[in-house]
Amino acid sequence: MEREARHYSAESGSAVRCHLCPHECRIAAGAAGTCGVRINRDGKLFSAIYGEVTSVAMDPIEKKPLYHFHPGSQILSIGTKGCNFRCAFCQNWSISQDLNARTAAYRPEDIVQAARTNNSIGIAYTYSEPIIWFEYVLECARLAREAGLKNVMVTNGFVNPAPRAELLELIDAMNIDLKTFNDDTYRRIPHGRLQPVLDTIVAAHAAAHVEITTLVVTGMNDTMEEMRAIIDWIAALDPGIPWHISRYHPSYKYDAPATDVDFMLRVHEAARKKLHHVYCGNIANGRGTSDTHCPSCGAVLVARSGYATRITGISNGACVKCGRASGIVQ
Ligand code: SF4
Repeated sequence: MEREARHYSAESGSAVRCHLCPHECRIAAGAAGTCGVRINRDGKLFSAIYGEVTSVAMDPIEKKPLYHFHPGSQILSIGTKGCNFRCAFCQNWSISQDLNARTAAYRPEDIVQAARTNNSIGIAYTYSEPIIWFEYVLECARLAREAGLKNVMVTNGFVNPAPRAELLELIDAMNIDLKTFNDDTYRRIPHGRLQPVLDTIVAAHAAAHVEITTLVVTGMNDTMEEMRAIIDWIAALDPGIPWHISRYHPSYKYDAPATDVDFMLRVHEAARKKLHHVYCGNIANGRGTSDTHCPSCGAVLVARSGYATRITGISNGACVKCGRASGIVQ
């Protein structure tokens, strides 16, 4: 399905400029923006992926990953094709970078109905980059909110302030990728920029539940210096923001060896000195980092084994042992 896009303006000739993300693509008639899915048709910008769903599944919320937002729940998860980034190591490249990926058409009301009838807490916009699906995400999220469902985005955070503000009116929780703390790396590898992503984290943190994920990629960001820069930045914003450090495996066009697990555990140890909740992902059972502990007394609040989750130490939103507010949304 195609739908006229939001957030664009006319340029000279029949060109348009898309203002959805900081790429600010100037798009000639008949051409597409960097994401490949926003197309200029005779001087009007269209989303070519409205309702075009590549993937739909019921997932544990922990898989997003969100560990502090309705732990143990299931969420209907949907994704489309295309992306405004070009990560050579993309773990979902078969839909994010292949514009010929097969899709099936779903109206927003179909998605909301599926969430309501399958015991889902809501809808997660995930798998590929949901920002480029803006018009469809917004309509699904509006209907989901009306139906009393939650909206979750798993995103690279590379979005302009105006559309971001519209999304944050409706999004309850975000997991935002902070891929590197080096602007040169952001420009060179995902073809993005650091500051807009930091701005999104700050804005989202003020409006919704936020967790951050950093894929630790061999040869890209796997230095303790860079990890400490990320830790310090998150700690200055809010040390209670959960940080997921995730292990990279060779994928798509990037074939460096998988991330050194010992390095990840050293990063975990360093981060725990400044952040309350740090989790290692994509390694066997999190190597003992999967449980959520009370930052005050150390009691286990939520125990996890894979995606199996047990809330063991929270009562009325607080630690059973010491009474400190858990900060976990239930
Ligand atoms: S959303 Fe797509 S077309 Fe629009 S500015 Fe970003 S990459 Fe370009």
